[in-house]
Amino acid sequence: MTSLEQHSADVVVVGAGYAGVAAASRLAAAGLGVVVVEAADRVGGRAFSEVLPSGVRVDHGAQWISPAQKRFHELAERFGCPTFPAGVPGAHAEIWHDGTRSDHSGTAPESGPGVAEHARVTAELDRLALTVDLDHPWLTPDFEVLDETTAEDFFLAQTEDEDARRRLALTVRSVWCCEPRELSFFHVLFHIASAGGLAQLTDVAQGSRFTDGADALARAMAATLAVRLDEPVRTIRHTADGVEVVTDRAVVRARRAVVTVPPAAVGRIGFEPALPPTRRGWLGHTPMGRVAKVHAVYEEPFWRKKERSGSATLHGRGPVGVVFDNSPQDGSRGVLVAFVHGDLVDRWAAAPDDVRRAEVLTALAEVAGARARMPIDYAEMAWSEDGWTIGGAACFVYPGGWSGYGEHGRREVTGTLHWAGTETASAWHGHVDGAITSGERAADEVMTALGLTERPA
Ligand SMILES: Cc1cc2nc3c(=O)[nH]c(=O)nc-3n(C[C@H](O)[C@H](O)[C@H](O)COP(=O)(O)OP(=O)(O)OC[C@H]3O[C@@H](n4cnc5c(N)ncnc54)[C@H](O)[C@@H]3O)c2cc1C
Repeated sequence: MTSLEQHSADVVVVGAGYAGVAAASRLAAAGLGVVVVEAADRVGGRAFSEVLPSGVRVDHGAQWISPAQKRFHELAERFGCPTFPAGVPGAHAEIWHDGTRSDHSGTAPESGPGVAEHARVTAELDRLALTVDLDHPWLTPDFEVLDETTAEDFFLAQTEDEDARRRLALTVRSVWCCEPRELSFFHVLFHIASAGGLAQLTDVAQGSRFTDGADALARAMAATLAVRLDEPVRTIRHTADGVEVVTDRAVVRARRAVVTVPPAAVGRIGFEPALPPTRRGWLGHTPMGRVAKVHAVYEEPFWRKKERSGSATLHGRGPVGVVFDNSPQDGSRGVLVAFVHGDLVDRWAAAPDDVRRAEVLTALAEVAGARARMPIDYAEMAWSEDGWTIGGAACFVYPGGWSGYGEHGRREVTGTLHWAGTETASAWHGHVDGAITSGERAADEVMTALGLTERPA
């Protein structure tokens, strides 16, 4: 039996997504010795860009940054990671469930089946989200009732208009990557509040994209850190005096650990002693969303010649829910990205390769025209099949999860273990900005625990 390498540090950070690199950068800037341990062979986690054989770089995970995501912007500027506006002029398409197509300008249609009623209900969502106490969610009025209600219950109580409900279901799939029946209604309100409004989540968040991929900043930040790649953490032993993080190759001993992996991935690590019941309860109520992103690359963005933006919403004839023009900034190639979410992705991902591809290309042809059936390059990424993040875009919360376990289970320090990751963020929960600030918040907790009073910028 080979013996394990022995290492020590002041702090060990588990996971090198944005939360992990942000935590580690802040701790290292404060003069602490930090080791980051990452299961995958790359940093970035749910931000993962790749150059396809056609030479086009695509973002398989996170891609957009909104003007309101201030910390993400600040760091991108500091590390010299350029962005460009994501919007493409032209008509957006809506393909209705009976196959009817309508084109509209602006982010949403102004008329059509269920449009007015959908607008009324989403205004109600925004109004209720204003009542959420982001710092102490459990102090929100009617917290338990809201949390025991599903999003579906709320929609059924709000409107009898099936078309409006169809639109609301697509909103749930696009943002939470699950079905309305599965989702705590309080979590819907919390997430809307954490972004400053539903439009921030659905439209405004799509402000800019990164020229060199949405993981460019994570790669730049990690360049000066000690990151051990390809090394899944199997066990974490923790006592009042410190932690031992065990992988297949090494044991890293440290005074504190910051664990930044998504909730579902925490469950794959053995903790000795076991985590407290509230933390276990929270982890059991916070499954990951189910989403796939599919990119199709063309010689040129041919739809733009017909004054089409390439953006579309599709209501249920096939697996694809939304489509966007994801072409490179200079338009040297045309790229369409299709999202498949919730129950639809389960069925779609299990289908044979040719069926999956045909279903996506059929949807893209409905949106952009028949040429969309003949891409020069094609790439799929189903996040539920990623062994280390297990889904995306973020976790959602089952009914009763927040009220049963949120107060103590979400991010409360467990002795020498600190919790980070976008799922622990109050602002921009579920986004890269939230991941970054969660890492920095956990780093501050560690510094306080270790008696450091100076804080890096
Ligand atoms: C399809 C998709 C689209 C998205 N679009 C956007 C967007 O446009 N804008 C936006 O802001 N956000 C978007 N997001 C969300 C965003 O990607 C996440 O909020 C953010 O990247 C999460 O960062 P994190 O560091 O909290 O977690 P992660 O990025 O998941 O990082 C956790 C890391 O822990 C590692 N890990 C897991 N288990 C172990 C283990 N046992 N040992 C060691 N390491 C382990 C994982 O490999 C991973 O690298 C999207 C996500 C997806 C999936």
